[in-house]
Amino acid sequence: MYDLAVLGGGIVGCFSALRAAELGLRAVLIDERGVFGGASARSAGVFTVQLDSPLDVELTAKSIELVKQYTSEKAWKETGFLQIGKEHALRESIESLEKCGIRYEVLNNQEIMERWPEFTVEPELIGVYTHPDLSVEPRILGRELRERLIEKGVKIIEGVGARRLNVVSNEVKEVELSDGSRISANYFILATGPWTREILHNSQIEVQTFLLTCFAYRLNLGRELNIPSFSDEYLHTYWRPWGATLVGGRYDAEFAESPDLSNAQPPSRSLKMSLKLLLKRLKTPSPPELVEYMRGPCSFTNDGMPIFGPIPRLINAYIVDGLGGYGLMRGPALGYLTVDAIVLNRELDRFSAYSPLRAFR
Ligand SMILES: Cc1cc2nc3c(=O)[nH]c(=O)nc-3n(C[C@H](O)[C@H](O)[C@H](O)COP(=O)(O)OP(=O)(O)OC[C@H]3O[C@@H](n4cnc5c(N)ncnc54)[C@H](O)[C@@H]3O)c2cc1C
Repeated sequence: MYDLAVLGGGIVGCFSALRAAELGLRAVLIDERGVFGGASARSAGVFTVQLDSPLDVELTAKSIELVKQYTSEKAWKETGFLQIGKEHALRESIESLEKCGIRYEVLNNQEIMERWPEFTVEPELIGVYTHPDLSVEPRILGRELRERLIEKGVKIIEGVGARRLNVVSNEVKEVELSDGSRISANYFILATGPWTREILHNSQIEVQTFLLTCFAYRLNLGRELNIPSFSDEYLHTYWRPWGATLVGGRYDAEFAESPDLSNAQPPSRSLKMSLKLLLKRLKTPSPPELVEYMRGPCSFTNDGMPIFGPIPRLINAYIVDGLGGYGLMRGPALGYLTVDAIVLNRELDRFSAYSPLRAFR
């Protein structure tokens, strides 16, 4: 019998289990495909505090702190982040930075090009630059988090997955696994991202999320450029530097019926557009060469907000889901806070916009 069973070992599950171990809980983490077997390993790895809502800014700032605390600089670099766009398009994100007290600089197009001569920016555009933002290599991050989990004594079960929750009188008694075995715990966290819907459905609980397959690319530029990670609200594209490569793409996705972990190539139009948009914004030393594509599932909610908190009508089960295309950066903080809510009775009132009540019938 465990104090806490964490289902799913993506970014959310890893930080939930790490926090549990830190608070002295006997924790088990179960991942059908192994730690970082889902979306987290396939993500582009951009961490930026430049987001539209103060809550998201706060979460990402906390996530940056956590990632730096638990992993080495092999997994991340402080690149800073430059958001380019028309002034009105960046207003919400500037307001959020203000509210959260995060330092930022507003630069006009000339100032951007003087500081980073590789950029080409039209006069009607501005840039917002923040400093703590990270470029993260998700697979190294996953490997290091797995090591930390083992060091902290979290029991990891890989290769078998959760099939359903066994519920008696509003209490989850155990989780039934794909090999027929069962794991009992006092508390459960569903951190199975795009697979949560199916596990809940098998447990006769319906959650309202939808799935997209997202795409990103790694391009080799031939040599390292001294530029920050950047996004372009005008051109709908985002990139982060990693050595001589850039990782990112166009804001690009397709609807999916079930989580897509295939290695099928993204639609060729997606890569062509991503390259075209990049070359509009950045002078590269040589023509970018595709070295890798990332393709993976993201779960979304109708209002675009995450689902975070206790599952309605269950007294001992929590959910973190619907993180969309920003889950790598919000996930560490949300995983951590879920355990704080369970163990330290931390109130989740200020997260009412993320309330699970919105997503359950
Ligand atoms: C191409 C792409 C680019 C992206 N870029 C970014 C980015 O730059 N920045 C950002 O913040 N976000 C980005 N995202 C989004 C981000 O990847 C996700 O929001 C985030 O990884 C979700 O984390 P998670 O822990 O909820 O889910 P996941 O990482 O998917 O973890 C769920 C885990 O559950 C496991 N699992 C599945 N079924 C079961 C089962 N039955 N039992 C037990 N375990 C199970 C899976 O193997 C998986 O490891 C991107 C996503 C994609 C696909």
